[in-house]
Amino acid sequence: MKDWARVWENIIARVRRPSRYVGREVNARSSTSFEEASLKICLIFPDLYEIGMSHIGLHLLYLILKERPGYFVDRAYAPARDLEAILRQEKVPLLSLEAKRPLKDFDVLGISYPYELCATNIVNILDLAGLPALAKDRPAPFPLILGGGSAVANPEPVAPFYDAIIIGEAEEAILEIAETVRQAKEGGATKAELLEALSAIEGVYVPSFFEPVYQGETFVGLKPLKPGYEKIKRRILPQLDQVPYPYRPPVPWAEITHDRLAIEISRGCTRGCRFCQASSIYRPVRERPIERILALAEEGLAATGWDEVSFLSLSAGDYSCLTELIVAFNRRFLPEKVALSLPSLRVGSLNQTIIKEIKKVRKTGFTLAPEAGTERLRRVINKDISEEALWETARLAFEAGWRHLKLYFMIGLPTETPEDLEGIVSLARRLTRIKGKMGPQVNVSVSTFIPKPHTAFQWEEQINLAETEARLSFLRARLKGRKLRFKWHKPEQSFLEGVFSRGDRRLADLIYLAFQLGARLDGWSDELRFDLWRTAAQKLGLDLERYLSARALLAPLPWDHIDLGVTKEFLLQEREKALGQEVSPDCRWARCLKCGVCDFKRIKNQLVKECKLPPIVSVSREEEEGRFTYRLVYQKIGWARFLSQLEVMRAFHRAVRRARLPVSFSEGFHPLPRLSFARALPVGVESHYEVAALELRRRLTPREVKERLNEVLVPELAVKEVRFSSPEAALKLPEEVTYEIILPAPVTQEQVAAFLAQRSVTLVVRRGKKEKEIEIRPYVVSLTLKEPQVLELVLFEPAQGGVRAVEVVAALLGTT
Ligand code: SF4
Repeated sequence: MKDWARVWENIIARVRRPSRYVGREVNARSSTSFEEASLKICLIFPDLYEIGMSHIGLHLLYLILKERPGYFVDRAYAPARDLEAILRQEKVPLLSLEAKRPLKDFDVLGISYPYELCATNIVNILDLAGLPALAKDRPAPFPLILGGGSAVANPEPVAPFYDAIIIGEAEEAILEIAETVRQAKEGGATKAELLEALSAIEGVYVPSFFEPVYQGETFVGLKPLKPGYEKIKRRILPQLDQVPYPYRPPVPWAEITHDRLAIEISRGCTRGCRFCQASSIYRPVRERPIERILALAEEGLAATGWDEVSFLSLSAGDYSCLTELIVAFNRRFLPEKVALSLPSLRVGSLNQTIIKEIKKVRKTGFTLAPEAGTERLRRVINKDISEEALWETARLAFEAGWRHLKLYFMIGLPTETPEDLEGIVSLARRLTRIKGKMGPQVNVSVSTFIPKPHTAFQWEEQINLAETEARLSFLRARLKGRKLRFKWHKPEQSFLEGVFSRGDRRLADLIYLAFQLGARLDGWSDELRFDLWRTAAQKLGLDLERYLSARALLAPLPWDHIDLGVTKEFLLQEREKALGQEVSPDCRWARCLKCGVCDFKRIKNQLVKECKLPPIVSVSREEEEGRFTYRLVYQKIGWARFLSQLEVMRAFHRAVRRARLPVSFSEGFHPLPRLSFARALPVGVESHYEVAALELRRRLTPREVKERLNEVLVPELAVKEVRFSSPEAALKLPEEVTYEIILPAPVTQEQVAAFLAQRSVTLVVRRGKKEKEIEIRPYVVSLTLKEPQVLELVLFEPAQGGVRAVEVVAALLGTT
């Protein structure tokens, strides 16, 4: 069998940020090996690693499946353009992260559809896997291409790429699907038989069992092809902890967007903002008890070594016992220097206790999302917040220590007038005046309103590009000033998101053609090539603006067969109320509005009733015995050579926490373990002798420190030697260092001899921002050609100055 791991290493050695592709993260191991597994599943996030690893949804499924005996579960992410180019050039398929296997070798590829602008990445991943993009062109049952994620609230634009799609919460459904696939595999089922079996599982949508019907340019409905299979009911988890799993998420080597332990404190929101699709996708509200949240934090932190926790929720400020939760969390974890990254709190959620607790934690920016500039428009969207309440919350946030206030607004909301835009400006300006001259920095972020399926505004018009530009210019001209910053979402991205949000199956052809033309990673504003989408639409004769237009209330909609539970009648009622500026209450605390989601037996709002502070198992705070410095010698070999120095440092910081070493911490809001490193080894370079200094508060034997660290480190970063040291001597490096260098092309003995014969070799090198000429010959102690492409270099490396091995090679090869 081909050594894919070696092929992969050779490839990622040539790309930017190879640590995205190395895999082997701590906690990323299935209980069964690839070879022995009766079912092999690869979960794929169609965006870059740093985004995918920050997404909790797919991780939960990974953790659930990974524990099942007999299953092998792996992950993959979208490649960046540089990796894709090499894969295509060298005709190497995209491999899974852990087993380094071609995606084709799996039984199930679960490719999520978390947001609309990752559609071309889905096609790209299938293409790089060597699989036809369209389900109809894949007659074999395996690998089954399975979808899911928030954007499948309208799956139609991507439906032709998938064999089956999970609608709703997948924690239970994924196990039923996995078992069905395993049985189909064992029984030698055909694809038709497999799809038939899958369609019997609640929440599973098989797109090929429906056929779209058009009259001319107009979509007139989806024709069900299987009797009794007309609507796909969303899967809803009655309780958040319905499906248990150990909370030990994989710990990334590379820095990711949300680099911390995420804990979902509640799911669902019933505030009923009329533009909000998540409101329909995740209803009803299900809160986790405080004890359970703390237990997840306990388990997750011990298993990962993260030093920060974030509370996830659609509206964390509404969590019934937020004050008690924050107090309990700080009581338990602040002594261990674990920070709480606070979610955006809603207006009115700040009280004196929370402010007192918040003063103890690290703060980034305080976010308020009024969404609209005037109280009138806020009533239309059912976000009935008065300007005074906004002011008071901002003032309290400022008092609690925040200095940056982020304000989120939308433009183009139904019924918006120039006064509403003026309202954004005046509100932002007013908030900069809190506390006189020392008032906060106010950052205003604006995005274009997108009418999303399953919302009260799903029938409304989305403003076009020209109108978006005009309204943005209006704001740009006015939101200026020392304490004001204005940011906006790229209008072309909102345009495409709007097209796909309410699109039909014809858009699959557009996605495919845009992909062929080179569209990728469209969610990244610097990657989006809007011209390619225009060209593709023109070639297919698709009028994209048409997708932004208002829909007739009685017209069939492409997502009518997707039953999220919220009824059309309820949405129409809410639309009527919006036009009359009538506010609907939150059914969490007021009466039920009969949206259609709850059955009031299993499915209903579940709030934490008793806000009691749980007894906190106090951490045994060992007395500080003193300060003990250890000198650590570790290796960085094999695949770990792809880690940058920053990544190695982070890996050690987390390992020290996982090993529960009594480490000393630095002072300040972001205390770090007192652990320093002698030098920064470049990415791609292996080393058998790297040095770090660690300071502990309690005296442990060097042997114990070494053993405890190696228990939680990967062998490629193993600690080889630990001894007591004075702080001054701990980071001292040997002055002569031996390098083994693999050259890109062979050199001759004569070249080496000629180099060594020179008494002076000068080289222009870059040090920081400056270029300077240095003499390198005196630093070269010896240079030996071991093989035509392998050099051994012994270099004199003084504490200051000196020359790098790569620079000696450049001088030898004349490639300076
Ligand atoms: S059915 Fe009633 S209680 Fe349940 S989410 Fe809808 S409005 Fe709220």
